[in-house]
Amino acid sequence: QCITHCPTGALKERNDLPAIYDILADPDKVTVVQIAPAVRTAWLERNDVEPGIDTEGRLVAALKRIGFDYVLDTVFSADVTIMEEGNELLERLRSKKQMPMFTSCCPGWVSYLTMYHPELLGQLSTTKSPQQIFGALIKTYFAEKTGVAPENICSIAIMPCVSKKREAALESMNASGYQDVDYVLTTREMVRLLRAEHIDPRGLKEKPFDSPIGDGTGAGAIFGVTGGVMEAALRTAYKVVTGEEADEDAFKAVRDTRTQGRDNAINLGGIRTAEFEIAGKVLKTCVVSGLKNAEEVIQQIQSGEAHYDFVEVMACPGGCVGGGGQPIHEEAEWAPKRGERLYELDKERKLRRSHENPQVQKLYKEFLETPLSEKAEHLLHTQHMWEKNYR
Ligand code: SF4
Repeated sequence: QCITHCPTGALKERNDLPAIYDILADPDKVTVVQIAPAVRTAWLERNDVEPGIDTEGRLVAALKRIGFDYVLDTVFSADVTIMEEGNELLERLRSKKQMPMFTSCCPGWVSYLTMYHPELLGQLSTTKSPQQIFGALIKTYFAEKTGVAPENICSIAIMPCVSKKREAALESMNASGYQDVDYVLTTREMVRLLRAEHIDPRGLKEKPFDSPIGDGTGAGAIFGVTGGVMEAALRTAYKVVTGEEADEDAFKAVRDTRTQGRDNAINLGGIRTAEFEIAGKVLKTCVVSGLKNAEEVIQQIQSGEAHYDFVEVMACPGGCVGGGGQPIHEEAEWAPKRGERLYELDKERKLRRSHENPQVQKLYKEFLETPLSEKAEHLLHTQHMWEKNYR
């Protein structure tokens, strides 16, 4: 957020809208947009819009009205992330190597670790972020299913995050044989686009996300709030280990219950720990948001003061709902309110565990085979080498 508040104007946020207009005007390009969970909680934070208008369906309709060909839900690829990351965690627990495992879906955190703690890079999950997993799948599986040549696809991610622009530009993010994600727009850029096109969401009829890879579960939806990745991973890991389903709310101890109400930004972020018994074994977890807090956890682990099996880290306090690409409101922090909305969406979904997603099941059956298969490793995993191959 400091970029948007730079007093001298020396720092400027990159504006990708001119490139998007060029792509939309190119008749040979097929545009495929993905929308991150946190974006849908913040795209209509305006006083003149009555509550209940800001639905996912109207956001899809608005993007279609602008002219994007396909609109997909990043909640789907968050579910795929869980299939890979949850199984990776279980592999590491079995081998007892490179523990604790740290989550890797936040590029702000991955970049921080690369710069300040390269000795811990081996402990990062190799699973890519939902944005990049979707990018790799759009230009392979989705291209195959829709019959669109991957070279004609322009893959655009709408994210609550400025750091995601850098992540998409990493040289390593081309597992599909093309740049997996061509452009990243922040929520703020998308809002500017809607305004420039005079889109009034109140007059729009809701539209569903496109298929065949457009739908996600409640587990994928909570990726946008601190504790969400951990909770989603535990719902699936429990099933893989025990063969039984845990209650969807069995792991809610990892949630930040302090983030209630709109104006308590002071309480955002922090460190939460919880232990769960799964098949007779105790799993020690830690959830942290804000890089200062992450550094504290690293110091505790390295000094031997704390022992964890799985650590979720989000650079922005409160997680992506409080991301640097989200709308900014003077003297008010809306991240807690947005986080509550994601938990509501989780509750409203019929399916709330990633492994129950029928489109994810079909993806593995038809294309990836199993989590951590050779193809999945190639497309969906990476060794995080940020500064070396950033272009
Ligand atoms: Fe981006 Fe912040 Fe979310 Fe990390 S926590 S992915 S830096 S918005």
